[in-house]
Amino acid sequence: MELVDDDDVSGWGECVALEYPGYLPETIDTALFALQNWLAPALVQYEFSHPAEIADMLDKSARGWHFAKASLEMAAWDLAAKKTGKPLAKLLGGTQKKVAAGLVLGMQETPRILLKKAFAAKDEGYRRLKIKITAGKDLEYLHFLRKNLGDDFDLAADANSAYSKTDFHHLQRFDPLSLSMIEQPLGWDDHVDHAELQKIIKTPICLDESICSPAACRTMLTLGSGRVVNLKPGRVGGLRNALKIHDFCRKNQIPLWVGGMLESGIGRAFNVALASLPGFTLPGDLSPPGQYLERDLVVPPWQIDQQGFVMVPATKPGIGVDIDQNYLAKMTVGNWCF
Ligand code: MG
Repeated sequence: MELVDDDDVSGWGECVALEYPGYLPETIDTALFALQNWLAPALVQYEFSHPAEIADMLDKSARGWHFAKASLEMAAWDLAAKKTGKPLAKLLGGTQKKVAAGLVLGMQETPRILLKKAFAAKDEGYRRLKIKITAGKDLEYLHFLRKNLGDDFDLAADANSAYSKTDFHHLQRFDPLSLSMIEQPLGWDDHVDHAELQKIIKTPICLDESICSPAACRTMLTLGSGRVVNLKPGRVGGLRNALKIHDFCRKNQIPLWVGGMLESGIGRAFNVALASLPGFTLPGDLSPPGQYLERDLVVPPWQIDQQGFVMVPATKPGIGVDIDQNYLAKMTVGNWCF
């Protein structure tokens, strides 16, 4: 189950969750609670012929809880792929044999330390670098990287809502950097201020946190609150909604890529399968989980090739990787049966 996000919020407590499903900020604890009490019991009573039916059914059982719903819905896609003997990418409609990978670099003590990590990533083959930024750790760092990496290198910034309307003039100063995008500079659920900002900056705004549903994607296009979409299947409730967003972006020629949320190799397998669809035109945050996990849950571990691509599993039914069952058993903290 993939529930961790770098944009997480704190919970209110389980008793409130029981009374007000749909209005509680989703955290690991509350998502588990929703899974145990509402979503898994609803799913086991439901007979489905195709996993694409599950998202609507879960939405009727409780509003919100996108990450919790995604963990069930995506598992059902894997199950369906295995039952039909197809790789998940094929079941989803994937056409790309390999997908380009980018790397996210967190904030560093100095621009020089950041540059050292950027050079290492470039040498490993990554096709895009996304730098986490905040006020005071932004322009100086990005200018230093751009100067040393060259004008042609795909450099992007992710603000995770670090700025507000008072920073518009400051954000205009990013334009000469020729960033491929600036991700979610303003409020995590905002469209209106982003639309205002996009009118006065050249750098394309990529919406991440604000894209929580297909409807949010339509809002982005209508208001002009962004020009690029970072799609995370967990954040939108699973693969059915991710496919809807993919189709919408493709139809409207909106550049699209798959984001990362510190998944294990299991979650990464779903993201790679999704990224194989034809509308994913930009490198995804698909670095091997070995970058941030002591040990991954899958064998063999995910890798990128020297050109910065991840191969899409093309023959093995389902997600295309094996779960290391012994290690999973060792790390398991609880089991629930329904
Ligand atoms: Mg982001």
